[in-house]
Amino acid sequence: MTISAVHNDRPWFQSVMRGFRRRCPHCGEGKIFAGYARVADACDQCHEEMFHQRADDAPPYFTIMIVGHIVVPGLLMMERSFAPPTWVQMSVWLPMSLLLTLSLLPLVKGAIVGLQWSLRMHGFGGESDKV
Ligand SMILES: [Zn+2]
Repeated sequence: MTISAVHNDRPWFQSVMRGFRRRCPHCGEGKIFAGYARVADACDQCHEEMFHQRADDAPPYFTIMIVGHIVVPGLLMMERSFAPPTWVQMSVWLPMSLLLTLSLLPLVKGAIVGLQWSLRMHGFGGESDKV
């Protein structure tokens, strides 16, 4: 069995998108989280084990990168176009940053767990989960 044959049963894009939708990367039906952003130990539909995930700091890193690429250009364009007072900028972009961060974080974390599952990382491939 070749390496590509091993990985074909877990297409990475499908797994990432299922995780992004906060669904189990294996079946796409069960919930990946047991709370806001706490990964469930196992899928509630297909019982695929999820506790192998090691997303660690990657979800906040990518979330900050995405939010920064939305908020900073928006703030600069608003400043250049309208030059509003600082309190207006703060009242728009601080809540926007908070809302974007809190809404994107679980989606990005789900996508990363889906990618880890697809690539059989950290015990998702059936081997022992060495820490
Ligand atoms: Zn499942």
